Amino acid sequence: MDISAPRGTKDALPDEARRWRFVEDTFRRLCRLYGYGEIRTPVFEHTELFVRGVGEGTDIVSKEMYTFLDKGGRSITLKPEGTAPAVRAYVEHHLGGQGAVTKLFYVTPIFRYERPQAGRLRQAHQVGLEVFGAASPAADAEVIQLTMAFYEALGLKDLELRLNSLGDAECRRRYREALLSYAAPYVASLPEDVAERMRNNPLRLLDSKDPDCIEAMNGAPSIQDYLEPESREHFEALLALLRDLGVACVLEPRLVRGLDYYNRTVFEVVSGSLGAQNSVCGGGRYDGLVELCGGPSTPAVGVAMGIERALMLLDETAPIAQDAPVAFVVAIGAEMGPRALKLATELRQAGIATDLDLETRSAKSQFRQADRSGARFAVVLGEDEWSRDAVVVKDLRAQSQTEVPVCDLVAALSR
Ligand code: ATP
Ligand code: MG
Repeated sequence: MDISAPRGTKDALPDEARRWRFVEDTFRRLCRLYGYGEIRTPVFEHTELFVRGVGEGTDIVSKEMYTFLDKGGRSITLKPEGTAPAVRAYVEHHLGGQGAVTKLFYVTPIFRYERPQAGRLRQAHQVGLEVFGAASPAADAEVIQLTMAFYEALGLKDLELRLNSLGDAECRRRYREALLSYAAPYVASLPEDVAERMRNNPLRLLDSKDPDCIEAMNGAPSIQDYLEPESREHFEALLALLRDLGVACVLEPRLVRGLDYYNRTVFEVVSGSLGAQNSVCGGGRYDGLVELCGGPSTPAVGVAMGIERALMLLDETAPIAQDAPVAFVVAIGAEMGPRALKLATELRQAGIATDLDLETRSAKSQFRQADRSGARFAVVLGEDEWSRDAVVVKDLRAQSQTEVPVCDLVAALSR
């Protein structure tokens, strides 16, 4: 039998898991600081939610979803993103009840059938924010500033925040027409099915990673010239708020998102040192989505940040807490083994991180394990001292040792 992890998935072993925890804990700490509440939605949803909430024309829905029939014949999809499920939960639980602004965050795996490469997995992970019920540019500014504060807290460097506005539906309709007539000669050269998709949503021409397409779109009209007055005003206000908050950004009139439901603000953060998979997060406003998912008309803005890509950028010097125990109990002689377990348990109950050799190997081997564990102290349980209700505490850093009565041990190790 040769079973390995499925393509596009990864195990996080303890050292790596510690880096994950650093990223997630940093995010949770900030969310608490900014007044966001955590939401945990199921790993799978009815397929219909994503078809509607992400959009039939997107790569995610058309090519990347893990969809299957369950034993009851229902079409189920492993969540490819966190926003549609959050919206579903928001509507289902009437979270916007009294018209209050609802601020949520999530930490979630996502599943997309993609071609795996560095920074692109089939099970990937995201942290994200969703703000419901706030149309004001202050909401966009808070989400963006929190996003940048998160990356700063992780110590990530060489990041660029790119910002654009997609205006309202009418503005996008006019822009689409302009874009399509600009790109008509290029679109005509494409295979018919691709051309058809581009005609349906020409904004995707700007989103393409294909070099020919990128080349053809050089000189395309800018959506900034099509913004209607309200969206322009909203965008200007957002820019002023960001300036005031000290958040640097670059206007990127070509920035559109792969997802259909965005309006007005769109943004992404890219890294100068990630190569092809350079986008670390994507976000924006989606005022139509809640209604599309069966809820009351509710403005909303959010962001989704890739954990794997943040981890790729995390410096070796990031302040990641070590898992080393404080104490390692060393039993001299096999008959001391059970006492070592009892003593270790008592230390643990007193809140002192403690490890020991569950196999009670030779003293030499146990001291080696104590060193390797990174423990500050070896607590040595010898027949002699034990008969006096005492142990030897060896400071592995200072290489000094003293005999300590068992009743004083917790105090001695806590110092
Ligand atoms: P990309 O252009 O890289 O495919 P996307 O537009 O599909 O990104 P979003 O759906 O906006 O990305 O997801 C937000 C973030 O989640 C991305 O910026 C990226 O950091 C991360 N992400 C998305 N898909 C994957 C994946 N398959 N593997 C790892 N991270 C991912
Ligand atoms: Mg993608």
